[in-house]
Amino acid sequence: MQLPYAEPFKIKMVESIRKSTRQEREQWIKEAKYNLFNLRSEYVFVDLLTDSGTGAMSDKQWSEMMIGDESYAGASSYYKFLSVINNLLGMPYFLPTHQGRAAENVLFSALIKEGDYIPGNSHFDTTKGHIEFRKANAVDCTIDEAFDTTLIHPFKGNINLQKLEDVFKKHPKEKIPLCIITVTCNSSGGQPVSMENIKATSALCKKYGIRVFLDAARFAENAYFIKIREKGYENKTIKEIVKEMFSYVDGATMSCKKDAIVNMGGFIAFRDLELKKQSSVFNIMFEGFLTYGGLSGRDMNAIAQGLMESTELDYLEARISQVEYLGNRLIEFGVPIQKPIGGHAIFVDARKFLPELPKEQFLAQTLGVELYIEGGIRGVEIGALLADRDPITRLNRFPELELLRLAIPRRVYTNNHMEYVAVALANVYERRKKITNGFKITSEAPIMRHFTVELEKV
Ligand SMILES: *Cc1c(COP(=O)(O)O)cnc(C)c1O
Repeated sequence: MQLPYAEPFKIKMVESIRKSTRQEREQWIKEAKYNLFNLRSEYVFVDLLTDSGTGAMSDKQWSEMMIGDESYAGASSYYKFLSVINNLLGMPYFLPTHQGRAAENVLFSALIKEGDYIPGNSHFDTTKGHIEFRKANAVDCTIDEAFDTTLIHPFKGNINLQKLEDVFKKHPKEKIPLCIITVTCNSSGGQPVSMENIKATSALCKKYGIRVFLDAARFAENAYFIKIREKGYENKTIKEIVKEMFSYVDGATMSCKKDAIVNMGGFIAFRDLELKKQSSVFNIMFEGFLTYGGLSGRDMNAIAQGLMESTELDYLEARISQVEYLGNRLIEFGVPIQKPIGGHAIFVDARKFLPELPKEQFLAQTLGVELYIEGGIRGVEIGALLADRDPITRLNRFPELELLRLAIPRRVYTNNHMEYVAVALANVYERRKKITNGFKITSEAPIMRHFTVELEKV
């Protein structure tokens, strides 16, 4: 028999989590105005809200915390971070930032003007937020296959080169400051982008004289998918694949809260010193001096160590296999999920789950609330609430996919937790016909409303 996968670590420290009753949860979610972001974490048993900043650091990362250099300028921790950026990613320059959106804020302050167009594969919500905040436009060029949850395609995060070229033909070069490839593509279901597509996108950008950046939050998970799914990469190490991915781009922004397995941190990597200099002004203004950018020295040490650990094959195999384990259990129960299973999360197709409910009643949110009431499990809506309103017409945008995302924190839960989640969701699926009312909005913010929106039952 082939040996099954097992985690390449054992557990040294544990944190208690608390169960609750259904009655308590009904009360708590009502008090939270049916917004899962408003719940106290003690009211959650298995927290799959996000895989961002929720990972468990290793003993090596914790030891790095102890030897952080907290000097204001020129800290050794900065140079440790820089050496990983140079050697692992092959990028010559970087700026540390306190998280991913801060990297976007700094870079976009240097690059994006009102009326610009920024094409890419389903931009992440903060990316889109920072683009639209500057009155510029995020143009989604993801392949159409990404929007059919039942279709099996190995690289559903890929960019459709025709759509991208149309953007390049339609608008002058000066209005397209960069193209962004998000790896893996969070908004289309944690789906990977192939090396071939990164390479071809980069070549097309070069042809039109447009910069290309990676949104690299889950670059290591993307590299794992390239290794197991793309011809020619099966014998390469993850670190070799990572280096090749970065070789095709002019830079990257990264939320280290994902694949650096730390609780806080980010960076911008650059190939061009001039652009780094332009961005430095904004880094100093918004984040901090160039050698810490809103991070403690110890944070930078932990990031440097985390980047090396997350690009180990054994780690990635256990990580992705756990996500697959949950996905396969749900498939066995007949629950409609996005296929193939993505890298960091399971995406439940709420439109297929609740076909009778009108989209105006926020299907994925309705499902998320039901799952919370069922088992104290917190997922997150990736649907009409997140899609927000059109900045010009102010009408609700209804995206092609209405998904409930169950994001799996790195190195945190066991497969027993996954089993618990699968059974809870199967129970909701059993009683889906009885879910006849969704939600309506009673209060919302003008931008990124999903974090603070208040709802009531229809
Ligand atoms: C999380 C994330 C960001 C934003 O990063 P934060 O650290 O949360 O600010 C940007 N892009 C992608 C793809 C992400 O997943």
